[in-house]
Amino acid sequence: MNITVDSGGGQKRDKVVIVGAGISGLTTAYLLNKLGYDITVLEKKKEPGGSIETVVEKDFLFDRGPNSALETHPLIGQIIEDLDLKEQLVYANKEGNKRYILRNNQLYPLPISPPAFLKTKLFSPSAKLRLMAEPFIGRSKDGYYQSISEFVTRRLGKEFLDYAINPFVAGVYAGNPEELSVKSAFPKLYELEEKYGGLIIGTIRSIKERKRRAEKSKQSAKMLSFKDGMQVLPNALAKHLGEKVKLHSEVTSIKKDGNCFKIDYMQDGEPRTIESNKIISTVPAYAAANLFSHFDNGLTKHLNEIYYPPVLVLYLAYKKTDIGRLLDGFGFLIPSKEKKSFLGAIWSSVIFPNRILNGNGAENKAVFTLFVGGARNPEIGSIDKEILIGKVRKEFEEIMKISGETIFQTYKYWSKAIPQYNIGYIEHDRYFDEFEKKNPGIILSGNYRGGISVGDCVKNSESVVNKVT
Ligand SMILES: Cc1cc2nc3c(=O)[nH]c(=O)nc-3n(C[C@H](O)[C@H](O)[C@H](O)COP(=O)(O)OP(=O)(O)OC[C@H]3O[C@@H](n4cnc5c(N)ncnc54)[C@H](O)[C@@H]3O)c2cc1C
Repeated sequence: MNITVDSGGGQKRDKVVIVGAGISGLTTAYLLNKLGYDITVLEKKKEPGGSIETVVEKDFLFDRGPNSALETHPLIGQIIEDLDLKEQLVYANKEGNKRYILRNNQLYPLPISPPAFLKTKLFSPSAKLRLMAEPFIGRSKDGYYQSISEFVTRRLGKEFLDYAINPFVAGVYAGNPEELSVKSAFPKLYELEEKYGGLIIGTIRSIKERKRRAEKSKQSAKMLSFKDGMQVLPNALAKHLGEKVKLHSEVTSIKKDGNCFKIDYMQDGEPRTIESNKIISTVPAYAAANLFSHFDNGLTKHLNEIYYPPVLVLYLAYKKTDIGRLLDGFGFLIPSKEKKSFLGAIWSSVIFPNRILNGNGAENKAVFTLFVGGARNPEIGSIDKEILIGKVRKEFEEIMKISGETIFQTYKYWSKAIPQYNIGYIEHDRYFDEFEKKNPGIILSGNYRGGISVGDCVKNSESVVNKVT
């Protein structure tokens, strides 16, 4: 069977089906569409975006998944330009640079310059001295099997692990530094040691190299969102692709038929079938395990072994007059040593405009987005959510010196939130590569490969497209 299409100039292009309309699937579709491929995107939910979900309830704009993205790769800016999203684009204001860490119930700004580091009370004098020894510590072996916790303790000391890296890992992965593999979860960090011999020297040298490639590091990249929230981006991509994106279309089975694939899906409750030469899966690993179960038992095992801890995202609104501390930052992160019931909070209305819709005295209100659970507290799955929220609120109000009641609150519970690139992850990734080689035409993509951030998912779409072309 031949299902290639003529993309103009007599050039034949494959028919490609992409499963999942999260940011990975939509960016891949956008790039392939530009190259003239005949694409169809099948998405289970009624809206595009996957983990990127924005809702407006009672004049409050709530990003239930990512609250922002980092402009780490030029492709993000290109898409924004191409889709005419410049009017919608907002960058975090300058307060966004100040991030607090909780220690002994006090919020300390994370120092971002050498003088600030020397002055800060977040770290003890011995921790500061220990950090200065970093350039003299040699390379280690095999970062794939080394946890981020081992790596940081060895290079920077235990206190730096506890009060900088532990909360940072919670903020990025909702993860556990004892379990995450340094090389799989933070490849750029590990590369500084592997390639340059140390973190301080490596940072200086890699800045020059990135400049040449027009890339930005995660520390220096601008933080962006949109006036109407993060879902603006997937909505615009889906609108641009038009009928090529089929929503409310859950893929139920994928079968090989000669050189082609037969993909069964349910669209608005009606069974349908589509055929393609290539299939790109961008669904979460556990969902891909079901779709490809009859291709390879080993694949199912590897996909199912990738751990997704639960995360509850709590959204709280207060009157500004009830808040007893200055709102002058991005928010705060909590080290696990502080033994609180949540991971941290973003001061949403401080960093981006329009989180409280105009009118009704928006300027007198403030909204916060709190993250609860993750690999640190996976037991939230079995805890009564109202009791949990009550406890979190009490702790948050104490830290923020809030005296009044919330004027609005809502939450989203993700039972399987973010894939963890734990020690042993490399075996999974290698298996996925082998599987793709043995099964030409199938590509496994999505945030369980190549990075979990929105920026990484956008960037990875380029490598996926290279596998197709
Ligand atoms: C709470 C939370 C906070 C986050 N915060 C940030 C942040 O601040 N910054 C940042 O950069 N990143 C953040 N992330 C991570 C980032 O949002 C995700 O990694 C990224 O959006 C994942 O995109 P994806 O397309 O790979 O997967 P997904 O968004 O999971 O998309 C997969 C899609 O596949 C669909 N699907 C599943 N099964 C089927 C099927 N059988 N048939 C058809 N469709 C199917 C799903 O419905 C979904 O739409 C956060 C994630 C979460 C959950």
